Amino acid sequence: MREELVALAKLAEMDDSARDIDAELKRIPQRLEELRNSVQTLETMLAQERQQLEEAEQLKVQQSSELKERNEGLQRARKKAAQASSIREADAAEREVEANRRAIKEREDELGRISQAIEAKTASLAEREKDFEEAKGVLKADEESCKTRVAELEEQRGKLLAGRDDLAAKVPKTVVKRYERLKTGITNAVIIISGSNCTACRMALPPQLTIELQRANELHQCPHCRRIIIHRNVIED
Ligand SMILES: [Zn+2]
Repeated sequence: MREELVALAKLAEMDDSARDIDAELKRIPQRLEELRNSVQTLETMLAQERQQLEEAEQLKVQQSSELKERNEGLQRARKKAAQASSIREADAAEREVEANRRAIKEREDELGRISQAIEAKTASLAEREKDFEEAKGVLKADEESCKTRVAELEEQRGKLLAGRDDLAAKVPKTVVKRYERLKTGITNAVIIISGSNCTACRMALPPQLTIELQRANELHQCPHCRRIIIHRNVIED
């Protein structure tokens, strides 16, 4: 088992040297994804605000046309009032004039509110559009720089891990599997010790285990933190 353990120790050392690169390679797409999501959110909000503005403008057109009708109604009612030939007719025409006046006042108030809303919405829409354009610009620039960075990292990683496959081939498959599984959850999945403590979790190892570790007949894991432990004498002999 000695040779296999030596190969495993080298493999772990190699992987450790690429650990920061791996972490960065994992972070980059995550950050881009977050950025894409926020651009998407801004776009959705922008579409909603455009829709609201369009609705307000439609409402304005509708209210304006109602106001025009009421103004015409008022003119007609005034004419009727002027031409009334009886008190009853005059009263009826007067009531019509009043009704139109009230409706005109209501429409005018409503139009004032709509115009204010349109003005506010137009201003916030301009802001939103600016934010959206900015975010799109940031995303595009980031996508470009990340592409360059990823290429750089891949190249460095390739250099650091050159010969990894040959090394892994020297370690039994079951051991490689166990190592890979451990590696996903903890850092320094393989540790080299020279004393009687696990240097990762600092717990004391059973005396029998420290003896067996030096014999290097089988794979051992720290009973406390589960890391694979190899004695320094094994790899330095
Ligand atoms: Zn430990």
